Amino acid sequence: MPEVETFKRYLNSTSLHQRIANVAVQDSYVLKHVSARELTRRLKGRRFEKSHRYGKHLFVRVSDELWLRLHFGMTGSLEYLKHEEIAPKTARVIFRFANNCRLAFDDQRKFGEVELIEDVDEFLRTRGLGFDALKISFSQFKAMLGKQRGAVKAILLNQQLIAGIGNLYADEILFYAHMHPATEASRLRDKDLTRLFRAIRYVLEKAIALKSDFNRLPKSWLLTHREKRGRCPRCGRALKSATIGGRTSWFCAHCQKRI
Ligand SMILES: [Zn+2]
Repeated sequence: MPEVETFKRYLNSTSLHQRIANVAVQDSYVLKHVSARELTRRLKGRRFEKSHRYGKHLFVRVSDELWLRLHFGMTGSLEYLKHEEIAPKTARVIFRFANNCRLAFDDQRKFGEVELIEDVDEFLRTRGLGFDALKISFSQFKAMLGKQRGAVKAILLNQQLIAGIGNLYADEILFYAHMHPATEASRLRDKDLTRLFRAIRYVLEKAIALKSDFNRLPKSWLLTHREKRGRCPRCGRALKSATIGGRTSWFCAHCQKRI
């Protein structure tokens, strides 16, 4: 999600309030419930008015009853191109503005999604998304976790419970909180919940502040070390990996204890 927040800020600073002159769909695979022709017809002549992020979804308002929904999948990104700048080969949808600049939705692996929707709240209800990871309050977090059984990592990844935390950041949050990813949620006491809640805020906000640029993320984070033969940046021991919550988790068995 830090990436999505970063794209939101990028879109806001480059692409708002300009008339959309054309939409070029280079690969309609990323379009959901809308044809290339309809996407173009409904956006042409309109403007992106503002944007709103919820979990990993970015909603861009076009009018009272029309929003563009972008989901970036694994490899999606936005790139604003000035005049002669060449669009990336893997740009799937390109919005051309009246000033001849373009906004490209680039997505190498095509897990991303581009859709037109009429009602953001209804979309969120239909998807059953949980609280946004940056907006959830501590009491909501505590109430939500209090009802859960299972590994804490699986809960962090469950978008129906808490929306916006992906696999890498879930590992980072647990590392920061000194908590083993397989810790059974029902064993967490108030002080553990507080630590975990603070870790979510800290990791996501820090990543957003650094524009989710992996090269700028602190070396003390797990992210840059999570690979075979990777060592814990805190204690120097070998990191371990295991499948937890259906995803590969990296952790330090020494620094992250099961509770
Ligand atoms: Zn360690």
